[in-house]
Amino acid sequence: MEALINLAYLLASAMFILALKRLSSPRTARSGNAIGASGMLIGVVATLLDRSILSFEWLLLGLVLGATAGTVMALKVRMTAMPQMVALLNGFGGVASALVALAEMERLQLHHGLAQASGVLLGTIAASIVIGTVTFTGSLIAFAKLQELITGRPIVVPFHHGWNALQAGALGIITALLLLQQTAWPESTLVSLVYTLFALSALLGIMLVIPIGGADMPVVISFLNSLSGLAAASTGFVLHNYLLIIAGTLVGASGFILTNIMCVAMNRSLPNVLFGAFGAEVQAIGGTDRLVRSTTAEDVAVIMGYAQSVVIVPGYGMAVAQAQHAVKKLATLLQQRGIDVKFAIHPVAGRMPGHMNVLLAEADVPYELLYDMDRINPEFEHTDVALVVGANDVVNPAARKDPTSPLYGMPILDVDRARTVIVLKRSMNPGFAGVDNELFYQPNTYMLFGDARRSLEAIAEALKSV
Ligand code: NDP
Repeated sequence: MEALINLAYLLASAMFILALKRLSSPRTARSGNAIGASGMLIGVVATLLDRSILSFEWLLLGLVLGATAGTVMALKVRMTAMPQMVALLNGFGGVASALVALAEMERLQLHHGLAQASGVLLGTIAASIVIGTVTFTGSLIAFAKLQELITGRPIVVPFHHGWNALQAGALGIITALLLLQQTAWPESTLVSLVYTLFALSALLGIMLVIPIGGADMPVVISFLNSLSGLAAASTGFVLHNYLLIIAGTLVGASGFILTNIMCVAMNRSLPNVLFGAFGAEVQAIGGTDRLVRSTTAEDVAVIMGYAQSVVIVPGYGMAVAQAQHAVKKLATLLQQRGIDVKFAIHPVAGRMPGHMNVLLAEADVPYELLYDMDRINPEFEHTDVALVVGANDVVNPAARKDPTSPLYGMPILDVDRARTVIVLKRSMNPGFAGVDNELFYQPNTYMLFGDARRSLEAIAEALKSV
């Protein structure tokens, strides 16, 4: 039986790795997701068949509750609310690992007494509790910020990083004491130490995430996702469960790789995101006396109708306006006129990795039309019209030109090099980084103010009579 279970675990692990591979391209992502879910099913069934399970009632209750909550959430959650849903899922993953480690500690206490357990085992239990609980409370704060239950602005208390360092130090000392001194101390002291770990970690999770601005939350969520994987792997060591160790490590590594990709695309370091309190102050927006060329849907239709090449650049505003279907309709109309249409995708456009890809896929925009930054940037100078749909920071030329800008150094889409730039947004308000955008004042830029979906529908309508 044990060999069969291990074989099932091996199969499930291989399926997880295959799933990750297939998830890396939109074309194969659906099957990747199905393979990953099937691997998980195999893992769950194998674990349930494990002879060490004594009673199924609680498991059944958990299964029904979890499956119901998961199904309702998956059906109801809006695409724009996906980051906070992922935050909740990470948080639950973290707290599950912490609680399983705690249960294992109680089992040890009942059966042999904690002092008999090895220091390494107690240290591993402590690591699961610390990482899992920090992930849990940190994820809840990330969720609350993105759901606007609390302010998205950084909340900083005096001596904030100092307190955090103190708490982290205390957690390290308690873990070391459990690891090294477990035979020397009475059982009740050991148990109190473990519960102190719980409380301190819960506080640390909150303190780590509250000073981070709401718009940085997707990076934080990806980082917390990585931590939830580490907590699971650590609990895998506590339980001697190979599948948990492998799956946790995969989550930990892939979450960290994604965090790194996001940081590189924003030209920020992870410590800067975690400790920089980015977005605490919005930069003053430049002089109001500068000329902005506002235009109409009819004029845009004329400009686009006579263009040979159009590059559409979607951003967060497309997600807010749910304009993906309108964008696809306009692209089709342009193609029917023989115009070359491409979509330029910035890795951090929107508010979560792959945000634009997911929305455009939902609207059935063919993958061949999607170009990443490196492929499309050399093309802008030969492009007649760059149509910016609710993007702002990812097209801000200050990232290339202005060393004083917070965006300086961030790789951007060079739309300013196109012959004509049309920007669809509602106002002159800044994007996530809170900085003014030089692009909007360029002589070849025309602003079409209004909700992106309505503007696109109006352009498509006007195009019919061009
Ligand atoms: P921005 O946040 O820079 O700008 C979005 C623009 O959309 C705003 O200026 C807003 O202007 C406009 N907008 C909002 N609603 C609408 C609407 N209904 N119709 C038309 N326009 C609308 O978005 P970008 O995609 O350019 O950049 C993403 C930013 O988010 C980057 O700074 C990135 O670093 C950051 N970020 C991205 C993450 C990711 O994973 N993708 C993760 C963390 C941060 P107005 O209000 O005037 O309409």
